[in-house]
Amino acid sequence: MTYPALFLSHGAPTLALANTFFTHTWAELGVVIGRPESILVVSAHWDTPFPAVSSAPRLETIHDFSGFPEELYRVRYQPPGSPALAYRVADLLGAAGQYPAIDPERGIDHGGWVPLRWMYPDADIPVTQLSVQSELGARHHLEIGRALAPLRGEGTLVLGSGGIVHNLGELDWGGRVAPAFPWAVAFNGWMAKKVEEGALDDLVDYRSLAPEAERAHPTEDHLVPFFVALGAGGLPARHMALGFDMGSLGMDCYAFGE
Ligand code: ZN
Repeated sequence: MTYPALFLSHGAPTLALANTFFTHTWAELGVVIGRPESILVVSAHWDTPFPAVSSAPRLETIHDFSGFPEELYRVRYQPPGSPALAYRVADLLGAAGQYPAIDPERGIDHGGWVPLRWMYPDADIPVTQLSVQSELGARHHLEIGRALAPLRGEGTLVLGSGGIVHNLGELDWGGRVAPAFPWAVAFNGWMAKKVEEGALDDLVDYRSLAPEAERAHPTEDHLVPFFVALGAGGLPARHMALGFDMGSLGMDCYAFGE
């Protein structure tokens, strides 16, 4: 069994509790993929100067957001950790010249638990988190992903979690039914087209080639998990076009290596 490497756009934290088209798609994805032995989450919300991997025996729920409804802070998603996977990740990255720090305490942030709560609601599959280095851009994360590719054949689901379009300064508070902004649609469409064409080099160079790249990603933290998944799974990919939330949060998902 070889698992795809996923990239999910996790959207707003409130999706943890919302019955929507997006969350039901994640739930369906969990059914289609089945039960991996472990999950490696690469979340936009753990951003460190150098790679770090969590070896905690149980991942505490990190509520790394503010200003949301109280019930969101009561959500607990506390899967067992996988120290064995953490050390396997360290070995694989070490062989590629990256030497991640082992963090014995890091829990799971909302980039992980918002979608996982829908995909695997029982929180009984061991999870490890690997950090991103948003300052280092697409190529670095593609190489990280490539180094992790063997995990897919070892029972591990590699799950990059970010946002295909992510500009919090330009949200439309009209909500879910707000029409998507043309600049967000343009960037989103370019990414989908390049994936379909297998244009790997163009994707890696998205910052200079894609329309509205700076506006779609003022910082790169929410897109670099895409490149980890792309590196781990390779092309072709299955594209799940989910559209937008709040006008500018791109929600598309990709399953690489399918
Ligand atoms: Zn986020």
